[in-house]
Amino acid sequence: MIYETNATIHSGSLPGPNAKKLMERRLKSVSKGVSYTTGLFIKEAKGALIKDVDDNVFVDFTSGIGVDNIGHCDDAVIAAVKEQVDQYIHPCFNIAMYEPYVELAEKLGALTPGNRSRKVMFANSGAEAVENAVKLARAYTGKQGIISLECSFHGRTYAAMTLTSKVKPYKTGFGPFLPETYKIPSAYCYRCPYEGQYPNCGIACAEKLKTLLKGEIAAENVAGLILEPVQGEGGFIVPPKEYLKALESICKSNHIVFIVDEVQSGFSRTGKLFASEHYDLNPDILLLSKSIAGGMPLSAVIGSEEIMDSVGSGQIGGTFCGNPVSCAAALQVLKRIDELKLNDKSMQIGKQITDRLNQMKDKFDIIGDVRGLGAMVAVEFVKDRGTKEPYSEIIKKIVEQCYQKGVLIMSAGIFSNVIRFLPPLVMTQDQVAYGMDVLEAAIQDVIK
Ligand code: PLP
Repeated sequence: MIYETNATIHSGSLPGPNAKKLMERRLKSVSKGVSYTTGLFIKEAKGALIKDVDDNVFVDFTSGIGVDNIGHCDDAVIAAVKEQVDQYIHPCFNIAMYEPYVELAEKLGALTPGNRSRKVMFANSGAEAVENAVKLARAYTGKQGIISLECSFHGRTYAAMTLTSKVKPYKTGFGPFLPETYKIPSAYCYRCPYEGQYPNCGIACAEKLKTLLKGEIAAENVAGLILEPVQGEGGFIVPPKEYLKALESICKSNHIVFIVDEVQSGFSRTGKLFASEHYDLNPDILLLSKSIAGGMPLSAVIGSEEIMDSVGSGQIGGTFCGNPVSCAAALQVLKRIDELKLNDKSMQIGKQITDRLNQMKDKFDIIGDVRGLGAMVAVEFVKDRGTKEPYSEIIKKIVEQCYQKGVLIMSAGIFSNVIRFLPPLVMTQDQVAYGMDVLEAAIQDVIK
């Protein structure tokens, strides 16, 4: 196996010859619609490091888009996966049931915030979890409307895409969308549409839900409201607690299912198992995916018993849903989060990154905002701090420069002018420091 820690981080002129050859084949054989960030082709990975097919080593600040919170190829997860595939791989839970599914459902139900009796169903992806949440909210309430937030991202299937709020690239050319959906403003304080200043703003953005229920659709017709407690793809927008609590309270008093999408913010990313815990949220439905199974595909829909049992047998589920290998991996992930103290690590890593980004903000005028919760940290670039005009063009250049120096980062934001950091939570201080040094040099380079 490759490096454990302190691997030599080296780079040359990237991509190297093997990666170039693979890229030629990729461009001929894979749909253009499947995006890529850099020319990286992986050979192996461990912890926070990735080695490419030309033996260049990278510090990974993406975690496979928020999936490898416990690090790439955790030994305990690998062992659990191997043990499981030696026993059985796919009996299908609807045909021959198995304990790992049930045990994981019990554990996730018990861990979900809010003192309520929970039931669970598993699916394969974040988007699929969102689809099921919409179905459950409609079936349970007998109502149709679904409300989501501006700047949200919920996935690429039809309901999930409809509820998502970034048109390009996610929605262009794909209409018509799911009917009876509505949007309200998110608490994007850096770009407050009402030019308010927290905490003196009266949380005007939350008031918009009340306006919507008066002016657009009556609460009697709204089945659910879905939100990410910290918006991910939207640019790591961290709302004030009062905002989320106000929306939750309006939902609770109007029989609107309060759906919390923690696909990206969950599993210790923000310094707690769920970001909902920072806000004392009590979701009617909680959605998980990405990091729950250490890299294996799995998602979970966890809801109150009465919601989860409001559908008839066979109305939710699917062939691969909750496959045993993913469930076995997820059970190990839960143990590893405790063993590795990942909530603490998340806070430490987040602080180290945030401190460095704030120092960069003092140095570079093009940094408009630094924000985050735990190790879910982002930096927003602007052309002018006064007008806050998004500086989107610079992002690709910075990402490419970092890649050339062995650091993987990725973009986000409704204006694509944000760089987000989703490091594996086992990243060492040295690796974080290396990444920040490379980022700072890249910014310096692209603005000169
Ligand atoms: N919800 C959130 C908050 C996400 O960040 C994502 C993916 O990034 C999804 C849903 C969709 O997940 P998937 O890509 O697994 O369908």
